[in-house]
Amino acid sequence: MAVETKTYGLFINGEWQDADSGKTFAVKNPATGEILARVADGGVAETRRAIEVAHRAFPAWSRTTADKRAVLLARAAQLMTQRTDELARVLTQENGKPLPESRGEVASAASFFQWNAEEARRIYGEVVPTAFDDRRVLTIKQPLGVVAAITPWNFPLSMVTRKLGPALAAGCTAVLRPARATPLVAALTFEILQEAGFPAGVVNLITGTDSAGIGTELATNPLVRKLTFTGSTEVGKQLLAQAAGTVKRVSLELGGHAPFLVFDDADLDKAAQAAVLSRFRNAGQTCICTNRVLVQRSVADVFTAKVAQLAGGLKLGNGLHAGTQVGPLIDERGFAKVQEHVADARSKGAAVLTGGKPATLSDGLNGYFYEPTVLGNATTAMKVTYEETFGPVLPVMTFDTEDQAIAMANDTPYGLAAYFYARDVGRIFRVSERLDYGIVGANDPVPVGAHIPFGGYKESGLGRENGSEGINHFLEVKAISIGL
Ligand code: NAD
Repeated sequence: MAVETKTYGLFINGEWQDADSGKTFAVKNPATGEILARVADGGVAETRRAIEVAHRAFPAWSRTTADKRAVLLARAAQLMTQRTDELARVLTQENGKPLPESRGEVASAASFFQWNAEEARRIYGEVVPTAFDDRRVLTIKQPLGVVAAITPWNFPLSMVTRKLGPALAAGCTAVLRPARATPLVAALTFEILQEAGFPAGVVNLITGTDSAGIGTELATNPLVRKLTFTGSTEVGKQLLAQAAGTVKRVSLELGGHAPFLVFDDADLDKAAQAAVLSRFRNAGQTCICTNRVLVQRSVADVFTAKVAQLAGGLKLGNGLHAGTQVGPLIDERGFAKVQEHVADARSKGAAVLTGGKPATLSDGLNGYFYEPTVLGNATTAMKVTYEETFGPVLPVMTFDTEDQAIAMANDTPYGLAAYFYARDVGRIFRVSERLDYGIVGANDPVPVGAHIPFGGYKESGLGRENGSEGINHFLEVKAISIGL
């Protein structure tokens, strides 16, 4: 059935259900303003019920064999891959990103299920050398319990599988609350989990408009043993404070302000292409997007001209249309922030090298389109150089020495991703080690994948997702000491 004609329910205890109130809310296409589908408007009572269901399902699920969990997750990965065309289309419609980016997101989302299917079989304990000859000590790893997961709209599919994958692989049960703007691919993921054969109650979906109410229930309910959140630093801090009352385990993937350093020995063509890819994919609405370029003065003019030319040539439009490279911003709030940041930078002396205004709309478009923008003469007084813009705006600043570049790059409360382009191998090691960031792309604008630990230093978050350590955040370590 076409997504446009459907109403999606909550998924609790293996059943699709209406909200208690019977209410639904509309999901809109940010490129056209059209209503795509309606979704059940669940609230606090339904969230509490889903948590209780997940709690009841936990003992049996936590005792399933690693093999069984691996088989189910691998099946879910396969079903997701089979539905790539449909998922990518819905993702583009609800989020706005161009179709090739959505297809890439489906592939990475499926890979997170697959990776964790494999990780399920490698939850090893240890035999610990003993301090007492009349005892033996070993450790085992056990699932935490009910996991609450809250995900954002900018990667509405892959953030869901990046959380549910390791939770299910570890033997936890889960309640997911996807972002209000983008619940459709999350609902399709639950169809996939149901078809894959996960038992009733193991995974539950709560959609709804009451973000604060649902979030508070998930963060404070004592039956929830772990909260995993991806979203803004502001909301992450609130949830962390709320979770303290029941000492929940908390993982946070929050905002960033990624610097992109270009040194005088860099391949400037590759660096310019990488900076444009890193800033303008998903219309700049990616937590690891480049937020500011820092370029060495001797190559600044040449590099900046290349970046402005590439950015100015990007094709804006409906993500479903062939050739579109940049889609709309998600909503009015995001659009207003971009306008405010550009106005602020201009008033403080920035030079608009390309873009700098909302795009002229045509071709049935009725969304929040902003021209890809490059700003020269940027200074640290401008908001765009220290606040997350979350839009298609790239400020360029200059530096003279490596030390100065590092100091400028690290001068932020954020520490998620940083990039640099250089060819000197000594410099590649020095700079990689000195950047206070959880993810460093050295001559690599997309340093992500199921095999790579993902997470931030400082106020960009707590914990890591993906990589071999990802699953550990869903497990407790138990020490067992045996008297002989
Ligand atoms: P957001 O914090 O507004 O929302 C994230 C999620 O939290 C959504 O599901 C939202 O509905 C919910 N939420 C909103 N208010 C809440 C509240 N008071 N209590 C509980 N839940 C609440 O963020 P967003 O605008 O959806 O996403 C953009 C932000 O997410 C950016 O800051 C971006 O950098 C960050 N992000 C980080 C990562 C990462 O892995 N570090 C990945 C993607 C996005």
